[in-house]
Order: sequence, then C-alpha cells, then structure tokens
Amino acid sequence: MSRDLTRTLPVPERTGREAVDVVIALGSNLGDREGTLEAAAAEIGRLPLVDDIRLSPVIRTVALTPSGPDPSKPEYLNAVAIVRTRLAPTVLLGYLQRIEAEHGRVRLERWGDRTLDLDIISYGDLHSTDPHLTLPHPRAHEREFVLRPWVELDPDAILPGHGRVVDLLAGLRP
Ligand code: ATP
Ligand code: MG
Ligand code: MG
Repeated sequence: MSRDLTRTLPVPERTGREAVDVVIALGSNLGDREGTLEAAAAEIGRLPLVDDIRLSPVIRTVALTPSGPDPSKPEYLNAVAIVRTRLAPTVLLGYLQRIEAEHGRVRLERWGDRTLDLDIISYGDLHSTDPHLTLPHPRAHEREFVLRPWVELDPDAILPGHGRVVDLLAGLRP
C-alpha cells in the first residue's frame, strides 16, 4: 500500500509559511521625508514573498526624544503599512534594515533624527521578547504617531495584547 505523504503533511509544511498581516510603522524627519516614505513603501511592496501592501495617510508629528517631545527638532512624517507576507519575521526585519540603510539611515543617538525608521509593530499574533525583534513593538501602544495612521488605515485594528487601536488612541488624549 502506498502512502501519499503530501496528503498527511500539515498545510504549512506543504505550501510553505502561511501569509500573515504585518503592521509596519514608517517615520522620517530628515531629507525628502515624503519621497522617502513613498519609496520605502514601494520597496517593501516589491520584496519577495510580499503579496500586498496598504499604506495609511501620512501624518505630521513632533519629534520625540528621550527627554520628551521636542518642537525644535525637525518634524516627523509618519505612516503605517499593512503588509501581507510569507516572509519569516527576522528575514523581514533584515530586509527593512537594508531599506533603512539604503535611504541613509545612521544610528548615532537613541531616537535621534533619521531619514527613515521602519519598525515592525505586529506580525500576526506573534509574541516575542527577543531584543533583536520584540513583538508586538513594546512602545507602539503609547505612540500616537503609530496608532493614529494605523486606525485611519484600519478602523477595526487590534494591537495584540493591548486591544483596539481606536481605544488605545482615545486613552492617550487628555
Ligand atoms: P524604537 O524601537 O523605540 O522605535 P528606534 O526605532 O529608533 O527606537 P532602532 O535604532 O531603529 O530603534 O532599532 C534598534 C533595534 O531595535 C534594532 O537593532 C532592532 O533589532 C531592534 N528591534 C526590536 N524589536 C523591533 C521591532 N519590532 N521592529 C524593529 N526593530 C526592532
Ligand atoms: Mg522606531
Ligand atoms: Mg527602528
């Protein structure tokens, strides 16, 4: 009797990694900020195993430094992208860091001015405490510059472990 192994293997083994929705925050406060965000989103959309990307409206925000908001620093443009992908999380992070580098990102000081920041906010429901890739992003729930564009793109968005993005946003406002 012959066994058809392809029938007995679970679906992910047979077809590769399943596609998940990944939320990516984009930010820029140096150079051609709008052009950089648009180019970065297009580049993410062209990555292998990325099936779809939707980009939020771009918002303007005051620069956040370790000592708080600083209006004397160049203003940020921020957006959020929802990406449907079969890329593994760390592979995706590697690609995002390469895109940051290609847009001239340098890391001199924590939360310093930058041409491009690409952070993974959530990867499906995945939870990770690895400092190299913490998921969901540990500060996303308290950041208006992430939550506001995200809820504009997806009014029903949920931040795993924290709840509805619209509620998180409402909780931030005085
Ligand atoms: P913040 O994370 O507070 O937004 P930042 O974006 O300015 O700060 P970076 O200099 O871009 O910080 O990244 C520092 C490190 O954070 C990276 O080396 C990366 O490995 C790690 N990291 C951990 N979790 C994530 C994540 N969810 N998305 C992107 N980078 C992450
Ligand atoms: Mg960041
Ligand atoms: Mg970052």
